[in-house]
Amino acid sequence: MTPEAPLLSARAAVLHDLTVRGLADARAVSLLEEALASRRWWLNQWAEGAAYVPGLVAQDVQDALYDDSCRWPRCTSCDRPVEHSLQIQPELGDDPRWICDESGLVVAPLGQLP
Ligand SMILES: [Zn+2]
Repeated sequence: MTPEAPLLSARAAVLHDLTVRGLADARAVSLLEEALASRRWWLNQWAEGAAYVPGLVAQDVQDALYDDSCRWPRCTSCDRPVEHSLQIQPELGDDPRWICDESGLVVAPLGQLP
């Protein structure tokens, strides 16, 4: 695996999940690029962390959007009345998935939000 491979797969996965939610605008893409740049640095320090990069980049972008008052991805899978976000699980692991914390539903693997 080249050093860029996990970053490219992180970029593709997060961009997909932004796009299906109508959020892949210039602002979000620049937040994504910033997250990829800082995780590139992180990966250079710890190559064994490659499998965790997509999930971490997704969480970085989620946090950055939240600071911009944008909730991504909003849960549309359960019937809880209060607006809430999906969360990446496991936070530090391979095979990251979006889950609803409220209901415990597993909504989709990262990069495959419907
Ligand atoms: Zn939910």
